[in-house]
Amino acid sequence: MALSDIAPFRMAGNLYFVGTYKASSHLLVTNAGHILIDTGYEDNLETIVDSVTELGFDIKDIKYILHSHGHYDHTDATAKLVELTGAKTFLAKEDVKYIKGFTPDVYYTDGMVVSLGGTDVRCLHTPGHTEGTYSLFFDVEENGKKLRCGMFGGASAKQLRKSWLKKWDIPYSLRASFLDSVEKLKKEHVDLFVGNHSWQNHTRENAELLKANPTVNPFVDESGEIWQAFLRDCNKKFASHMWEDSRETFVTYAHRGASEYAPENTMLSFYTGVFMGANGIETDVRKTRDGVLVLHHDATPARMCGEEHTRRIDEMTWAELQALNVQKGELSDKIVAFEDFLAHFAHRDDITFAIELKQADIEVEVAALLRRYNMYKKTFVTSFRLDYIQRIKEIAPELRVGWLVKEVTDGTLDALRAIGADELCPPAALVTPERVSEWHAAGFNVRAWGVNRDNMKAVYDAGADGMTVNFPDELLAYMKQTGEARH
Ligand SMILES: [Zn+2]
Repeated sequence: MALSDIAPFRMAGNLYFVGTYKASSHLLVTNAGHILIDTGYEDNLETIVDSVTELGFDIKDIKYILHSHGHYDHTDATAKLVELTGAKTFLAKEDVKYIKGFTPDVYYTDGMVVSLGGTDVRCLHTPGHTEGTYSLFFDVEENGKKLRCGMFGGASAKQLRKSWLKKWDIPYSLRASFLDSVEKLKKEHVDLFVGNHSWQNHTRENAELLKANPTVNPFVDESGEIWQAFLRDCNKKFASHMWEDSRETFVTYAHRGASEYAPENTMLSFYTGVFMGANGIETDVRKTRDGVLVLHHDATPARMCGEEHTRRIDEMTWAELQALNVQKGELSDKIVAFEDFLAHFAHRDDITFAIELKQADIEVEVAALLRRYNMYKKTFVTSFRLDYIQRIKEIAPELRVGWLVKEVTDGTLDALRAIGADELCPPAALVTPERVSEWHAAGFNVRAWGVNRDNMKAVYDAGADGMTVNFPDELLAYMKQTGEARH
């Protein structure tokens, strides 16, 4: 017999615990068959079978298997249980990408009620932990009293960190969904909080207490405060995950390269930034009259190549531009073609790229080049023009886009949300810890521009996810110093 690290027990009414410390499974017993909530890791199968048997029920009577979400620690034992029982499985369509070995029989819809033998389970869509997380509510009867039971289908915000979002191609907006879901759940009254992991409701300790004194059920809290406190804790943990994530994944973008030290937007400048240790490069894309995408900030080369060069870049040819020198003090270099830039840097998986669209009607070509060089997962395409990033997002929805703005209003966030943007790029002067938290909670990556020596440290300290800086060496030195101070 498989050893369960939590012996199966009756929690209240017709609700039983049949899982393990690491992966909770609950059984709702009815005279028309049973409902199992979550199955757990593959080797939880044996625990579930033994637990159900030990409690005096027949595993074959399981008719429905409900899943809180698609992650393996809730679904991996499902395929074998279906073989054993023929039970119908329920999952959100959005979470099918996470499961293996079975195809759900029923896809949840928000508010759906699953009924069996007088037990009704209400299924609420509470996305965040995954796109298709569902929270479950049902009543049990104990000593003639109805107790409202509730489970938050995905309470951890750890999966909203960037590395995870990137791995599964999940939009940053899922962070906002998570907080919306927590608010939605706060409106529910719950007398008995059911954890989908045992540490959430202290299953093991409370099971011992219940065994020692069956007259007082430690799982029951008619004030609903245990449930509310748990949800408040979800808010707190979310905030600390976002903070830690912004520190661990912080991007120091060499702005037009290390443009404090080398002629901006040239190979010299980009390589200087990388050599200094920048883990990001920011640059600007325009197009010549003969159709070459080039990296240059201004509309004309006058500021960088000599004031007599006042013709617009989109009226010049690539050959004409190559005849010019981009100057910075004693140093000079050539204007760079976007494709050459990609040939030099696209292999660098340790670098994040911020590509700013400086001109209309180059979105298709920029998206195509980024795809050809396999740059999608490490790039943010940005612009001050919302229509440019909207267009490139329509062409390539999986590309991450950011909007460079001069101010941030509610309308700004709504507009970003409407086009499915991932990143908000506010001026450094607007960045405060409170605003960064607010923008993170709205689901956006926060990258500042307009960084100078006076505001650089404050932007970093505020918890932004990155900034463009002309002197990446100074920012990196500051980060090293604050990192050492913390340890
Ligand atoms: Zn999960």
